[in-house]
Amino acid sequence: MAQKRDYYEVLGVDKNASEDEIKKAYRKIAIKYHPDRNPGDKDAEEKFKEAAEAYDVLHDPQKRQQYDQFGFDGPMGGGFGGFSGASMNMDDIFSMFGDIFGGHGFGGFGGGQRRPQQHRGSDLRLKVRLTLEEINKGVTKKFKVKKDVPCEHCHGTGAENGSPSETCPTCHGSGVITHTTQSIFGMMQTQGICPTCGGEGKVIKNKCHECGGEGIVKGEEVVEIKIPAGVAEGMVVNVPGKGNAGRKNGINGDIQVFIEEERSDTFVRDGNDLIYNLLLDIPTAALGGEVEIPTIEGSKLRVKIENGTQPGKTLRLRGKGLPAVQGYGQGRGDLVVNISIYVPKTLSKDEKETMQKFRNSDNFKGDKQTRDSIFQRFKNYFN
Ligand SMILES: [Zn+2]
Ligand SMILES: [Zn+2]
Repeated sequence: MAQKRDYYEVLGVDKNASEDEIKKAYRKIAIKYHPDRNPGDKDAEEKFKEAAEAYDVLHDPQKRQQYDQFGFDGPMGGGFGGFSGASMNMDDIFSMFGDIFGGHGFGGFGGGQRRPQQHRGSDLRLKVRLTLEEINKGVTKKFKVKKDVPCEHCHGTGAENGSPSETCPTCHGSGVITHTTQSIFGMMQTQGICPTCGGEGKVIKNKCHECGGEGIVKGEEVVEIKIPAGVAEGMVVNVPGKGNAGRKNGINGDIQVFIEEERSDTFVRDGNDLIYNLLLDIPTAALGGEVEIPTIEGSKLRVKIENGTQPGKTLRLRGKGLPAVQGYGQGRGDLVVNISIYVPKTLSKDEKETMQKFRNSDNFKGDKQTRDSIFQRFKNYFN
């Protein structure tokens, strides 16, 4: 497929369009390019799929927010639940947007047949709490998830002992039923999903005794999920196809992993930067020297302290912060060292005498320039 068009552009709606406007816009396009109205027209089919993909993302508040924030690939570069209009067949689209096509089905256009539905399992949501060290490196986590799995007894078909399914006696295989009603405009025909077969067009005569004909049972699975480096609180990692199994060998749902961040005792996170608060002793601040700064990697960095270092001064250690999430920015943030000066809470007799001498020296009183610059930093901080 050629370069993807912006989803809002595809649907011809404003970035601030309401859910209702999006739905209306999609319905209009879907009707115009519907395959039943454009038989054999590849271009119309592409447009139809393109609109379906745009709608899938924009009508879901969570996906929409991620799209607004991160663009086509979702926050992890993994796309939106493996959904891509280009790789989808029409049946998928019909089964996903039953709410739009259902009720006033498309069967009426050109007498086309409604496609049988394929069931999609629902998505599962998990939470994971990560330390900054795990976020720094990326981590693989194992989850034991309770979910719908295909029934082994019937191999997911829902039929007992491979008994064949029969054409639905209610809808004769079309999956839709037509109601005829009298209105002020005359006789009106509306279509709805067949209640007997749920739109499948087929019914199982001998239902599997294990799953009652659903093709799925409650099960458990250990799932390994790779969390990429650089994620942050509130991000969602989507794992396509690991959610609940779809009924009757349908499509699997996804697993969505919501990221939570554990507080670190050592660092405060600010985007991809890490902040470290250094408590500097008075002699090193005055004389200059070297200090050790911990890094997120677990090692220590020796950092030079200038003589006459003032409290509130910051040092920026380039590239020693957290990595950017793949595909969203490059390289690493910085390690920002905020310097405070430690004043001892108690003093020995000797120390007191030494301090007394300092008190008498004008050099220790501080000048206006320093006072102003510290005041300025405070002001910047609070603004
Ligand atoms: Zn039926
Ligand atoms: Zn079964």
